[in-house]
Amino acid sequence: MKKAEKNEMGIDDDAEIFAPPYKTKVVEEICLIPKKERIKKLKENGFNVFNLDAEDIFIDLLTDSGTGAMSDKQWAGVMRGDESYAGSKSFKRMKKAIQDITGFKYVLPVHQGRGAEQVFDELMIKAGQVVPGNAHFDTTKAHIEYVNGRAIDCTIAETLDTEKHHPFKGNLNLQKLEKSLNENKDNVAYVLITITCNTVGGQPVSMENIKKTAEIVKKYNVLLFFDGARFAENAYFIKKREQGYQKKTMREIVKEMMDCVDGMLMSAKKDAIVNMGGFIALRDGEIYKQLVPIAILREGFITYGGMNGRDMEALAQGMYEGIDERYLEYYVDNQVGYLGEELHKQGIPVIRPIGGHAVFIDVKKFLLHIPQSQFPSQALCCELYIEGGIRAVEIGTLLAGRNPDTGENIYPELELLRLTIPRRVYSKDHLDYVVKVITKVWKHRESIKGLEFVYEPPILRHFQATFKRIE
Ligand SMILES: *Cc1c(COP(=O)(O)O)cnc(C)c1O
Repeated sequence: MKKAEKNEMGIDDDAEIFAPPYKTKVVEEICLIPKKERIKKLKENGFNVFNLDAEDIFIDLLTDSGTGAMSDKQWAGVMRGDESYAGSKSFKRMKKAIQDITGFKYVLPVHQGRGAEQVFDELMIKAGQVVPGNAHFDTTKAHIEYVNGRAIDCTIAETLDTEKHHPFKGNLNLQKLEKSLNENKDNVAYVLITITCNTVGGQPVSMENIKKTAEIVKKYNVLLFFDGARFAENAYFIKKREQGYQKKTMREIVKEMMDCVDGMLMSAKKDAIVNMGGFIALRDGEIYKQLVPIAILREGFITYGGMNGRDMEALAQGMYEGIDERYLEYYVDNQVGYLGEELHKQGIPVIRPIGGHAVFIDVKKFLLHIPQSQFPSQALCCELYIEGGIRAVEIGTLLAGRNPDTGENIYPELELLRLTIPRRVYSKDHLDYVVKVITKVWKHRESIKGLEFVYEPPILRHFQATFKRIE
């Protein structure tokens, strides 16, 4: 394992070891059901791991959203939760934490990230307007389109090459951004930077790119926002990879990022390490004022917005724990990075550099013999469950769906399988187990068979589709 530097506590770590900066207080039993049972369950559930019961999963790497383990301090906050309908003390504490860390004055609570998107887009987007940015997250894009806006993807080209080394694959292509602003003069709703960029593999955006984007956007008199679900991980990558940031604290880097934009939409289920919650944070009181009635209608009164008082307490505490550098180092480098590099050592094709919250297997290179029309990522996903009770998630042809005009399958450039690591949940032994299982599958990869639909739902097909094997 990597050599730890002198940490924030001032402890000089000479040893070639790095241990997690927390210990376990509560445990939850997990169980590996026999292989014969796993095969049976998968067949009964149409080769779709979304249909499986959680109790039949051994290691659940479906998502990092809301699946993190809360700390003792967060649980203590749960007891302190003030459930007053209006003026809750817990809201005040949450608002203070968000203001303190981000510098944004106005805070609207929402039940989760997509609640923020719904409220925000209803005000900010008029039909026909565009929202340029790096690759938008799927619910974000769906909300933009729902109010008849259009998302424009300005991600840099390097992102599509899964082996090409680039420290900031989430960066915006600034020429492309400027072109889209030019072509849509007076028709831009706002510009959105997703940090880290989930859709392209949890890849970060550099401070330089954020600053240059802000300059361009200002020239066109357009507002700039973060989709900030993983803002802390992005700041950590800046500290690690961008020149001039090694000596800055996480607090300073986060603040410097936030100073470039007009506000952020936040799914707190990621970097604030809560099971449910989110917010919109803004610099400008006028936008806040206009969002309030929509927020009250959609999410609830402005001092709870779909959250319980106890959730807001946990969120307030989680904001601080999420930007703790020792925690980030352990999660990003020694868990996600470790898993990715161990798989790479075994020759397994993964997106590199490894992203912030997940390892992405490049399935086009893993299963050379299965064409995209036979859902290779889904087939591999099923194989990991059969081999080791691991639940991963398909980010490929199944998720991409069909072209609404032609009805044809969309075959995405990147056919991926995502192994998402919940925060503070699994140990290194669990990750080593995952490496062993995937290595075993890698060795017999040629025997894996493609899939065909038994049932294909008309929308969001990945959640409910069922399949059979092509023998
Ligand atoms: C998860 C996520 C969202 C949506 O948030 P939910 O809490 O799942 O509704 C939006 N953007 C990004 C980048 C996300 O990762």
